Amino acid sequence: MRQDTLKKLAREHGTPLFVVDHDVLRRNYAEFKKHLPRVQAYYAVKANPDPAIVRTLYRMGASFDVASMPEFLIVHKNIEHLPHTERQDWIWDKIIYANPIKATETLEQLDQYKPLVTYDNLEEVRKVRRHAPHAGLALRLKVPNTGAMVELSSKFGAPPGEAVDLIEAAFRAGLVVEGISFHVGSQCTNFENYVQALNLASNVFKEAWSRGFEQVKILDIGGGFPAPYDANVKPFRELARRLNSEFNRLFPKKMEILAEPGRFMVATAATLVAKVIGKKVADGKPSYYINDGVYHTFSGIIFDHCQYHLKAFKQGPKQICSVFGPTCDALDTISLAEELPDLRLGDLVYSENIGAYSHASSTYFNGFPPAKVIHVNQ
Ligand SMILES: *Cc1c(COP(=O)(O)O)cnc(C)c1O
Repeated sequence: MRQDTLKKLAREHGTPLFVVDHDVLRRNYAEFKKHLPRVQAYYAVKANPDPAIVRTLYRMGASFDVASMPEFLIVHKNIEHLPHTERQDWIWDKIIYANPIKATETLEQLDQYKPLVTYDNLEEVRKVRRHAPHAGLALRLKVPNTGAMVELSSKFGAPPGEAVDLIEAAFRAGLVVEGISFHVGSQCTNFENYVQALNLASNVFKEAWSRGFEQVKILDIGGGFPAPYDANVKPFRELARRLNSEFNRLFPKKMEILAEPGRFMVATAATLVAKVIGKKVADGKPSYYINDGVYHTFSGIIFDHCQYHLKAFKQGPKQICSVFGPTCDALDTISLAEELPDLRLGDLVYSENIGAYSHASSTYFNGFPPAKVIHVNQ
């Protein structure tokens, strides 16, 4: 976003201010579709559950990946329902419930929607049969997460060797397994992860089909698509080229392929503007205290292992400095080595590409509320 636009918005709305640019959301969605024409994008709502973001992506043609009842309802309330007449399972076209572990209460609430849900173990098959007998299933496969910024495979995923038995167990229980899913880890810059995962999935499909389970026909390649935080991240089209060639090599044309991009859609769509509220010299370098920190929009520094950089609106020679958030906790440290020009109290700073796993995990710790959100180019 242009600096003068950000400054004007901050003057108008105050700080901390989380500015979401819907032109960028639309551009990211269009880029994803352009390079992966065989793939339907199910936006992973946990990256940023703002209803306005859900609506914009829905209008672009997106479907959604949710992992809790509140997320399910955010999507359900914000999309126009398709007529129920054509397909009983219309909701599968628009929503996947991609949390392999679901509380029984959640299953009971979900059942009326005939949802598509993921699973990776036998207990879950029993739970789904009892509490959501109208659900369809997708088996979550464990795949290598090497080199991803956020690892997800230690918590979820059936070992490939057990996958087909779990598919068989679900059919035996009277349920239908519609597909196979995996997640290569978030901000996955090691494209080999996808290639390995696709090969593992392909073997599971073949084995399942050979045992007579032809209904397993959806391939869900999960999320992990990296946001261009810095120049080391290879372009998305390179990843897409690898994926497309593996799709064509391994999977019949008639197979449905879906993905669950979260970060890729929203990371570059938001900018945070904050204000310097304190300043001192400590350990021989300037220390700035700003009115947003790791309990708030910068929460990704802790939970998402993502480092954000700050920029100033003013020019001037840069110095190494520390930047802290507003709470009383020393953990509330944004950086001990940021490069900024000499700032004064009241000066504004901003941080770009902060749309994913940021505002979504803000707290009210110490009495400081999350940043105000505004939407531009909606
Ligand atoms: C978090 C998550 C996603 C989104 O991952 P990104 O790396 O943000 O694309 C997709 N699917 C599942 C099951 C997830 O848990």
